[in-house]
Amino acid sequence: MNQDTIHSTRAAGPAAGASEPTGAQQDASQEQWGERYAHTLMNTFGPPRRVLVRGQGADVWDADGNHYTDLLAGLAVHALGHANPVVTQAITEQLGTLGHISNLFASPTQIALGEKLLDLATRLAPAHTPARVFFANSGTEANEAAFKLSRLTGRGKIVAMQGSFHGRTMGALAITSNEHYRAPFEPLPGEIVWVPYGDAGALANAVDETVAAVVMEPIQGENGVVEPPDSYLPAAREITGRYGALLWIDEVQTGLGRCGEWFAHQRLGIVPDVITVAKGLGNGYPIGACIALNEAAELFGPGQHGTTFGGNPVACAAGLAVLGYMADHDLLSHVRQLGEHLARSVMALGDPRISGVRGQGLLRGIVLRDPVGVAVADLALEAGWIINAPRPGVLRIAPPLIITAEQLDAFVAVLPSLLDRARAQS
Ligand SMILES: *Cc1c(COP(=O)(O)O)cnc(C)c1O
Repeated sequence: MNQDTIHSTRAAGPAAGASEPTGAQQDASQEQWGERYAHTLMNTFGPPRRVLVRGQGADVWDADGNHYTDLLAGLAVHALGHANPVVTQAITEQLGTLGHISNLFASPTQIALGEKLLDLATRLAPAHTPARVFFANSGTEANEAAFKLSRLTGRGKIVAMQGSFHGRTMGALAITSNEHYRAPFEPLPGEIVWVPYGDAGALANAVDETVAAVVMEPIQGENGVVEPPDSYLPAAREITGRYGALLWIDEVQTGLGRCGEWFAHQRLGIVPDVITVAKGLGNGYPIGACIALNEAAELFGPGQHGTTFGGNPVACAAGLAVLGYMADHDLLSHVRQLGEHLARSVMALGDPRISGVRGQGLLRGIVLRDPVGVAVADLALEAGWIINAPRPGVLRIAPPLIITAEQLDAFVAVLPSLLDRARAQS
């Protein structure tokens, strides 16, 4: 297998060499780890970009001691940064008290996190709106729960969006549009009707009283941070309401502060029937949740769904610590401000190779005129910056929400030089 992606050259990032990993982590080089990886892990991800050993806030270090500023946060996950002491303490204390109990039993952290999530999810709903949560361990499982829940409406059809990503289990894959992900695993659960994302007229034509649910992301992160018009989610709310179909919003990537609101759809003033979350909730400790409102809240009965690990006390302690920290530090306004700051600074470069910045809060796509995104992300990594290119012409920036303006400014300052070199390469 190709090991070229693991370099032992020193990174030239701003804090390169500022701090070295210590102790046992230093015992093998990235090259050695890379070889062991290639002989051990199933090849689902291709060769790893780096072997990382330590993180602190938005900083990470690889096995050779190179430093990186993490502007991707483990794919929009660790909102509070690496090794956040508040989350670490909450997890450690819970694990030292009661780590796992199964769902034959309940725990205070599970109930408290459920209450907190429902509180946030019903902020724009009338008082006393019924709502309930099911805890899972990942985004795809949260969506799997929502898929099964939709079947209990007695209707079988789901309307899904072109460009969507909802996860890799068979149900979530069935509503994920990428042919390359789907084709080897067909037949997938049906019946799925595909519509163009952002087109309210097409949605109105596709929905009738045979549709169980319409599922969409408020912003399509994996598709390159694609935003529908602001009128689209309100239109979808109206159309689904008209036919008694569930409006299911996948907030796995966009939710819990990432876009500057507790849920990205709340910026548009709507209240969905089903909301799925995961990525940002546990700051890296695996947890997902399917939240349902009104009649959808009552669809599941005993024995109809389950999980061994979902909602365990430790994962829920992590979630509570994350939501508490975000509220205590008024992180939502920080995210809105820094998101605007990033978009403005990138556009202020006046670089003809950049055509725009999409997204909300700290989920941003820098849109390039040429399809050099992968080359730019590779060069960025060598220079000490972690970003990615979800589409060939888009750079995704989804940093920890605690990122500073200085850290973002430093990246914006090097971006033109990365584009110079990417152009030379392609
Ligand atoms: C990442 C993602 C998922 C899948 O989450 P996993 O935890 O990887 O299963 C689902 N939906 C959206 C919108 C995502 O971005």
